[in-house]
Amino acid sequence: MARYGMTVDQKLCVTCNACVIACKNENAVPEMEARCWTVQAERGVFPLLTLETRSERCNHCEDAPCVNACPTRASHYEEGGIVVVDPDRCVGCKACIVACPYEVRYMHPDGYVDKCTFCIHRVKEGKDPACVTVCPTKALTFGDLDDPRSVIHQQLQRRQYKVLKAEEDTRPKLFFLT
Ligand code: SF4
Ligand code: SF4
Ligand code: SF4
Repeated sequence: MARYGMTVDQKLCVTCNACVIACKNENAVPEMEARCWTVQAERGVFPLLTLETRSERCNHCEDAPCVNACPTRASHYEEGGIVVVDPDRCVGCKACIVACPYEVRYMHPDGYVDKCTFCIHRVKEGKDPACVTVCPTKALTFGDLDDPRSVIHQQLQRRQYKVLKAEEDTRPKLFFLT
């Protein structure tokens, strides 16, 4: 059984938003909403400032508060630990939106909660997620964290990385290479 995750190489991401646009097209994300976005954050104290750039989305947490909070089990783990929402079982109560520490979910105009699916429909066909495929600098890598032959496994062996809000203890699987 795979354990899917994604890395975002902060040295390569140029916040061009190609990932954001590709995601919107691939997943018919409504206007004014997004399943991923880019961030530029200053780090350090003047004059020793550095600019962090990254593309963010659902962390597909291994201990996901959204899944625990969902009263209808619409939010659930799929193969490889991908966290998805079943629109047919979602009653739009927003308990998952409140429970998620990362603010990655939104209310779809059709009455269910939506977010990044790691493009599970593509993964099932052996393809990379749309955002990974389109990134012009190859800043994004998707794969099986447990497969020693996978690029993502090797990246996490040899590079330094961080996760966002580690103190929340949700075991996120979106890793930012520093
Ligand atoms: Fe960053 Fe790649 Fe997204 Fe552009 S497409 S914003 S470089 S992750
Ligand atoms: Fe759930 Fe939020 Fe974690 Fe995604 S980032 S799995 S929505 S708790
Ligand atoms: Fe969007 Fe798919 Fe990338 Fe998630 S993995 S941000 S759904 S393109």
